[in-house]
Amino acid sequence: MSVKIPRGTFDILPEDSYKWTFLKKSFEQISRNFNYREITTPIFENAGLFERSVGDSSDIIEKEMYKFQDKKGRIFALRPEGTAPIVRSYVENNLNMAANSSKLYYIGPMFRYDRPQKGRYRQFYQYGIENIGSDDPYIDAEVILLGKMFLEKLGLNNFELQINSIGCANCSKDYDRALQEYFLPHKQELCSDCRKRLEINPKRLLDCKVLSCKEIAKNAPSNLDFLDSDCRDHFDGVQKYLKMMDVSFVINPKIVRGLDYYTKTAFEFIENSLGAQNTLIGGGRYDGLVQQLGGKNISGIGFAGGFERLLLTMENEKLSFGEQNNPKIFMVARGEEAKISGINLLSKFRRENITSETAFEKSSMKAQMKAANRCNARFCLIIGEEEMRNKTVVFKNMESGNQEIVSVEAIFERVSKI
Ligand code: AMP
Repeated sequence: MSVKIPRGTFDILPEDSYKWTFLKKSFEQISRNFNYREITTPIFENAGLFERSVGDSSDIIEKEMYKFQDKKGRIFALRPEGTAPIVRSYVENNLNMAANSSKLYYIGPMFRYDRPQKGRYRQFYQYGIENIGSDDPYIDAEVILLGKMFLEKLGLNNFELQINSIGCANCSKDYDRALQEYFLPHKQELCSDCRKRLEINPKRLLDCKVLSCKEIAKNAPSNLDFLDSDCRDHFDGVQKYLKMMDVSFVINPKIVRGLDYYTKTAFEFIENSLGAQNTLIGGGRYDGLVQQLGGKNISGIGFAGGFERLLLTMENEKLSFGEQNNPKIFMVARGEEAKISGINLLSKFRRENITSETAFEKSSMKAQMKAANRCNARFCLIIGEEEMRNKTVVFKNMESGNQEIVSVEAIFERVSKI
């Protein structure tokens, strides 16, 4: 019986892995340009970490978390998101990295037991940043700018930035009540999830994907009318800085994000060509999370996006992922002595970071040349009997077919110059 890959997961095959490397490198580069440093946390954590922070009533905790018990009965979870682990690490390691806020970026797999579809998987790769330690609206705008610059760096330009302010616990009291009053007369028309949400977390009704719920939510009161003066000033500040940075945005009061720890700014980069799963990046501010996880009363803000949706969009738009790392040199040799000479040259190239390949296991020259073609080598170095006698190699450009004779002594320099 053959064993198949788990549903909702995928292999990154060798012919595609350069695309993933390209995305990772591009994100690392832009994060470093903003002086962020990488942080890597474990793939599993105590399940309680997520239950306390992401929130018991969220879909992630209620339905999607991969929870398991270890041999000593401890309950762990495969991480469904990156913020809670990073804040845990920030508190545990006292990561007050600089005089200013702590700036961290991460890349890695996340796990959610969700219904797999285009752009939604059970294991997916997120990239993200967290800026912990300041609640200045300038930071919100800078975090958003980083996201925008990243998407632009990849060549994407059909996305839209949507922002909102969810407010704080203080604004939520009145807003939640207003939502309950608005939705209650429609209770029977709501989906079963939303009926539950109405009691526990009415804001999440705005986020429901069920069409009938969406229709009802259309005329729900806007949270922007319920912001207290502190949250309103903060939101005005974010908009002011975004304008100063030339970042265009639309305000969408329906962005609530599915995670309980968000306060004040929430934002999404939307790519409409993607269909139902059209959020490229989602993020927001979290005022209470650090303290909730045992740290000081400081605020943070971050975002996360999935590489899969970037890949889909970039492929749709035929954008470049850079070049595959094909061999520059393919060594072809006939006869034992020629092989020795070839082996020495290969070692030299490989030591000097020049990707080189061979098919010495094939005896005929023809078979070796065929192998060179198959692996898209740029140049072939051919050593036959005559070349052995003259201490030369044939240096062949595989694209043009042109070839020249170069002495063994000079060949390394000749190749490195290209
Ligand atoms: P979230 O952590 O839910 O705020 O999601 C942030 C971003 O991660 C989304 O905008 C997607 O780009 C990506 N993402 C979230 N869940 C999935 C998933 N199941 N499969 C693929 N990408 C995902």
